[in-house]
Amino acid sequence: MFEHITRKRFGQHFLNDDGVIHSIINTIGPQHKKTLVEIGPGRGAITLPLLEYDVHMHLIEIDRDLVKWWREKQQQGLNIDVHEADVLRFDFNELGSQENPIHLIGNLPYNISTPLFFRLIDFHSIIADMCFMVQKEVALRLTAQPGEKPYGQLSVWLQLHYQTELLFDVAPGSFSPPPKVDSSIIRMQPHTKPPVEVTNKEQFHKFIKAAFAQKRKTLRNNLKKILSAEQMQTAGIDPSRRAETLTLKEFAALYTQLEK
Ligand code: SAM
Repeated sequence: MFEHITRKRFGQHFLNDDGVIHSIINTIGPQHKKTLVEIGPGRGAITLPLLEYDVHMHLIEIDRDLVKWWREKQQQGLNIDVHEADVLRFDFNELGSQENPIHLIGNLPYNISTPLFFRLIDFHSIIADMCFMVQKEVALRLTAQPGEKPYGQLSVWLQLHYQTELLFDVAPGSFSPPPKVDSSIIRMQPHTKPPVEVTNKEQFHKFIKAAFAQKRKTLRNNLKKILSAEQMQTAGIDPSRRAETLTLKEFAALYTQLEK
């Protein structure tokens, strides 16, 4: 590897554990895919083993020194396209379409995972599936079910758009430099058919946030300015319940009352 200065501001924790890398490659299943899009290829811990399969890769990287290194590799014949960009501003329509949806992968810099998941909702129809490394805490929130401690507005909002699955955990010692927290590999797949129908998604998002405004309080309390106890009962929901116990379907039923 060339001399590269690790940049903290880009959340650079490079994977250096062959066992973990092998498990990630298995999870991605490159033998079944033609094109992959990797966010933050870094020094190639996942990229280079993937390229040993017959795949083409689009690499989106913000660190200009790494971009330069990857461009040299491209000139030497690696089957890659290199995009120097901040992924939070990247237009994925450049890479995929409904007919040819993209497979997204990446060991994500921790500070951008949640905003990225929100942004990727806009590209819903051109994404086939995603496999990411994220902070374990984020993975738990993404996959939490009603009644579980990490279940909150992020779980409800993202599960409205994606099917989410936590596959396995990765310890800090598998990276250089090691992060302070545990990580997890997750799989996310946009729903082909939404699990519930809501007419105005933006309003629904605000509604979920309001329901979770104070986690320990009941729905009656959190929603008192927007929904009466009678309306909650009409939706079949006991107003003394807390948001953290409601399924996505129950949130949608409550929201329908609000729209009436
Ligand atoms: N894939 C490599 C690995 O597993 O060793 C590197 C992972 S490292 C956690 C995150 C990578 O994302 C770094 O290469 C970093 O430069 C890049 N990165 C950070 N912020 C980014 C952004 N906003 N857009 C694109 N790439 C970014």
